[in-house]
Amino acid sequence: MKLAGKRLGPRNTKLWHAALTVVLMSLSFASAASYKLATFSLKNGLRVVCLRKKTSPIVSFSIWYRCGSMCDRLGKSGVAHYLEHMVCASAGGEFKDFLEKVGADHNALTSLRSICFYEIVPMEYLETVFGYEARRMAELDMQEKVFLSEKGAILEERRMTHDSSPAGELYEATVANAFNRHIGGISVLGWESEIKDLQLQDLRDFYDEWFAPNNAIILVVGDFPDVEYLKKIAEKHFGAIKEKVQQPPAENGARPSLFKEITLASSKNSSWNVEYIYHVPTTYGNDIRKNIGLELLISVLNQPDFFLRKTMEHHLNIAHSVVLAYLAKYFQFDVVSIDICCSSINNNSENVWNYLRKKLLNIGLTKGDLDVVKSQRQLAFAHKEDNIAHISMHIGQMLSLGYKPEDIQSMDDILQSIRPEECNEILREIFSQEPVLISRSVPKDHDRD
Ligand SMILES: [Zn+2]
Repeated sequence: MKLAGKRLGPRNTKLWHAALTVVLMSLSFASAASYKLATFSLKNGLRVVCLRKKTSPIVSFSIWYRCGSMCDRLGKSGVAHYLEHMVCASAGGEFKDFLEKVGADHNALTSLRSICFYEIVPMEYLETVFGYEARRMAELDMQEKVFLSEKGAILEERRMTHDSSPAGELYEATVANAFNRHIGGISVLGWESEIKDLQLQDLRDFYDEWFAPNNAIILVVGDFPDVEYLKKIAEKHFGAIKEKVQQPPAENGARPSLFKEITLASSKNSSWNVEYIYHVPTTYGNDIRKNIGLELLISVLNQPDFFLRKTMEHHLNIAHSVVLAYLAKYFQFDVVSIDICCSSINNNSENVWNYLRKKLLNIGLTKGDLDVVKSQRQLAFAHKEDNIAHISMHIGQMLSLGYKPEDIQSMDDILQSIRPEECNEILREIFSQEPVLISRSVPKDHDRD
C-alpha cells in the first residue's frame, strides 16, 4: 500500500472535513423552500432537470456525468479526475474564451460519484453553452501534449492538497484502511505512482465508456423561458449523440472491512486525534426519511450546547474539538465518523467517549433539540435561496447520488416531519454497534499513556 511507512501528521479537523466535502460530497439536506423541478429525457437517455427561478436574468447550466472516481479501474486511480482536467484543457480554448468574454462563472469538479462541469451565464447564452457541452460529450480531441502538461498540473495539485497536508495523507490512509481499498478509486486525485503510470489511452477508454447521454444529467436553474425551450435546445444539440453501454464499476474489494485500529505517528504532530467510524446499516439505502433523520441527528450531536461536546470540550476538558460527520452514499454503504481532537489520547479519554456513547443511547435527543436544528437549517437555506449556484450544486449532487427529482423537492416537508423518536431509533441503530475503525494520529515518539 502506497501510504505505508509515510509520516503522517496531526489531524486538522477542518481540513479533514474540507477534504471530505470535495471527495465525498456528503449529503447536506438543506431545508428548502418547495422546489418545483421539471424533468424530461431525450430518446438517447439524456435526462434534463430544471428549476425556474426568476431572481435575475442569469442561468446555471451543469452537466453531471455519473462516473466519479468510483469508476476508476484497479491500478488506474485518478482517471476520472484526470479526465475532468483533459476535458477542460482539450475543449478549452474556444469555449473558455467565450465563457470569459460573457463573464461566466464556470468550473468543474470530480467526486466519488460524478464529474460535473458548470457554467453560469446570462440567459441569452444558454444555448451556446448547450452547444459547447454537447460537442465535448460527442467527441473530444485529446492530445498527448495536453495530456503531459495536465499530468504535471495534477501531480502538483496532489502535492498541494495531499502530500504537503498531513490531514490529506491521513484521510487517504484512513479511508483506504476503512474500506479495504488500498489501490484504486478511493482517492479522487489518485495515488501518485498510479497517476505517473497513466497513459493517454486510459483516459480515452474512460471517456469512450462514460461520456454518453445515457450516463449524464443536465441541470438548468435560473431564468430560462420555459421547459419547452429547454426541450428544443437539448434535442437540437444533444439529440443526435448515441448512447453507449457502460460496465458497472468494479467494487474492487471496496467493502467495509472487519474492525481495525490504525495508529499513525508523525514528528510534526503536537496533538492527538482519535476517530471512530461507525457503519450505517445498509437498509438505509435510498430511504430518504432515514437519511434525513440521520443528517438531523448528526446536527444535534454537533451542537456546542448538546451534552456530548459540552462534556468533552468544557466539563472534562479532554478534547479541543469533537466533530461528527455523516458520509453518505459511500460506495454501497454509509458511515458516521466522530473525530475527537485532544491534548493526549489515553485510555481515560477513550473511556469517556464510551461512557458518553452509552449515556447518549440511554437519553437520546428531545423534540427541543430537534427543533433547534430544523430552524437552523431553514435559516441557513433562506440566506442561500436566491443563489442559483448554491441551489444547482445542491440539487445536482442529490441527482448524481441517485435521488429522484420528486424526492429532492419534497425534502423540506420530510425534514420538518421527522420526529425525535425516529432520530433516536437511528441513534440506537448506529451507536449501539462497535465502530468498524478506530484511527489515531499521535506525535512521534510519544507512546500511548
Ligand atoms: Zn483537479
